[in-house]
Amino acid sequence: MKIYNTLTKTVEQFTPNEENTVRMYTCGPTVYHYAHIGNLRTYIFEDILEKGLEYLGYNVLRVMNVTDVGHLENDSDDGEDKMQKGAEREHKSVYEIADFYERAFFKDCESLNIRKPKVVERATKHIDTYIEMIKVLLDKDFAYISNGNVYFDVTKANNYYQLSGKNQDELYVGVRDTVENDKSKRNPQDFGLWFTVSKFSKQEMKWDSPWGVGYPGWHIECSGISYKFLGEYLDIHCGGVDNIFPHHTNEIAQSEGFLGHKWCNYWIHGEHLNDSKGKMSKSNGEFLTIDLLESKGYNPLAYRFFCLQSHYRKVLEFSYDALDAAQKTYDKLRNKIKKLDRTPDLHESKLDYYKERFSDAINNDLNTSSMLTVLYDVLKDNELSDFTKLYLIEDFDKVLSLDLIMDDDEKIISEETESMILKKIEERNLAKKNKDFETADKIRDELFDQGIKLIDSREGTTYEIIEG
Ligand code: AMP
Ligand code: ZN
Repeated sequence: MKIYNTLTKTVEQFTPNEENTVRMYTCGPTVYHYAHIGNLRTYIFEDILEKGLEYLGYNVLRVMNVTDVGHLENDSDDGEDKMQKGAEREHKSVYEIADFYERAFFKDCESLNIRKPKVVERATKHIDTYIEMIKVLLDKDFAYISNGNVYFDVTKANNYYQLSGKNQDELYVGVRDTVENDKSKRNPQDFGLWFTVSKFSKQEMKWDSPWGVGYPGWHIECSGISYKFLGEYLDIHCGGVDNIFPHHTNEIAQSEGFLGHKWCNYWIHGEHLNDSKGKMSKSNGEFLTIDLLESKGYNPLAYRFFCLQSHYRKVLEFSYDALDAAQKTYDKLRNKIKKLDRTPDLHESKLDYYKERFSDAINNDLNTSSMLTVLYDVLKDNELSDFTKLYLIEDFDKVLSLDLIMDDDEKIISEETESMILKKIEERNLAKKNKDFETADKIRDELFDQGIKLIDSREGTTYEIIEG
């Protein structure tokens, strides 16, 4: 497999440390609010990566954390703990907030066919591991105690700026603009490993430690959970591009300082989902959720399809027009598949050819739009029996996870779309009754443009979704 590695800034041949086994760590959600569809784009990409690797024959050991402590409003140790803020917003305890939003997150994942990783661990369950690591970092002089807190000294790290590809001055510009300088730090780039002198007297989650009662920094949790469940050598670490700096940069510094050797070989990052205002984020106030899209009549899997049409390394612009188009194409695709004859009749001659093409698309830096092209080519191939097409589609859907093969009684279009069509048919009947044929034709043409063909017969008017 060839994949883009943020560490080397090149598309590289992927070779895991252990033949056929991939150790993969993905940063999980901070469960202080609902996930927005931008966050979920990142989890869709990671899901495709995991399933793509499995399609190629790897056994994937995947671990994800759930952040329920220590993620401050600003990734550079500034502001309040996001969980604490969530609890105050909803007049609940931090634990209640964590339970509620973790459940909501996995429900979203389920509607998007994002498989729950085999190991999902809450940050607050592994405090002892972080404490052990911090002790070693202090012993090895990578960390220091100042004003009651423990910090990592970034000047001690090997090649600290490699992942971000930026130098200290470039990175410091962003930090200086938004962060009130923590006077306890030796260097402004240093980051907190353990806070005892909490800036926030209300901090609910606290644990005893050799440095006093406090709580861990955000970055150490991923290093700790990864080390505990995947060992000293990691093949892949993923996240969204905003995680590159400071989060992943700091993870590398502390993990490699602790382990004494290189930790993770491939860093793979998904680009953002933008809306008209730029990067979708919760701090902008309103944000889009899967529930909201569903309440507007969209199938969550049409959003997954929308994401798969573009490459994970490209910024994706969200608009309702674009989602409408994706929903339409997705419905047409499933409709076409639904019409395939299921009578068993497997032609084996071209199976390998198409499976190889599908593997090539995965191998080509996880090219999801090429995966979809192979799928469409299968559907178009007149030499294949319907049953063979279904066989291949089912095979590809192990990776795509778009529920391409429907149950017999499943409807292709949503109830909202159906009631919209029925309303339009009624309007058209009325226009025809009033001899307003212009309006009647206009309604028919507009529906046609949306991929819905009206069929008039003596019994009345019915409709059909047109194939794309
Ligand atoms: P958080 O819950 O804030 O820790 O973020 C969860 C994941 O979503 C992280 O991997 C982020 O990199 C990613 N993320 C945040 N904003 C976006 C966005 N607009 N588009 C895609 N991914 C994002
Ligand atoms: Zn992380």
